Amino acid sequence: MDKFRIKGLTFEPYISNEEIQKQIARVAQELTHDYAGKKPLFVCVLNGAFMFAADLFRKLEFEAEIQFIRYKSYEGMESNGNPQSLMSIENSVKDRPVVIIEDIVDTGLTAERMIADLKKLGPSEVKLCSLLFKPDSLKCGAMPDYFCFSIPPRFILGYGLDIDEYARNLPEIYVLSKED
Ligand code: 5GP
Repeated sequence: MDKFRIKGLTFEPYISNEEIQKQIARVAQELTHDYAGKKPLFVCVLNGAFMFAADLFRKLEFEAEIQFIRYKSYEGMESNGNPQSLMSIENSVKDRPVVIIEDIVDTGLTAERMIADLKKLGPSEVKLCSLLFKPDSLKCGAMPDYFCFSIPPRFILGYGLDIDEYARNLPEIYVLSKED
């Protein structure tokens, strides 16, 4: 992992793929313990969570289903505070446990809105599982029930997370350098 420049900004190595996989395995074990036999529906939030969801889902050791939805609130490097739903769930969630798979909980406003929207469909419960969590940025009660990493409020990319749709393909996570 080396420093690199994109969109005129410098990013530094932050979390290796090895460490990411280790923490995903830990969370997968927690989910297996909590949901085995309960047939939960996992809801992956596109685009950012696709890589995390793929790695997490294949580590689950029980019968589970996955669906994909899209919410968008980030423009450039800041949340616009108004997440919009861009896709709806086709499967029935009525009386089933639902676990949202997110890439990162920053202000928490996207997650809060999703949880409220999903609850209208009558699931038995809705839980939130996020790869990353920025506790110091949280502006509401949407704290993740499961997360791999708690990080300070700095802009990151890679492993599914983008800057203007670029850098999602990096296997590791990088952080914006303090020089920028
Ligand atoms: P929230 O609604 O919690 O403020 O933001 C949620 C969404 O903002 C995340 O799903 C993610 O797409 C985006 N986001 C938040 N923080 C970062 C970050 O540090 N880097 C990138 N690339 N996206 C972020």
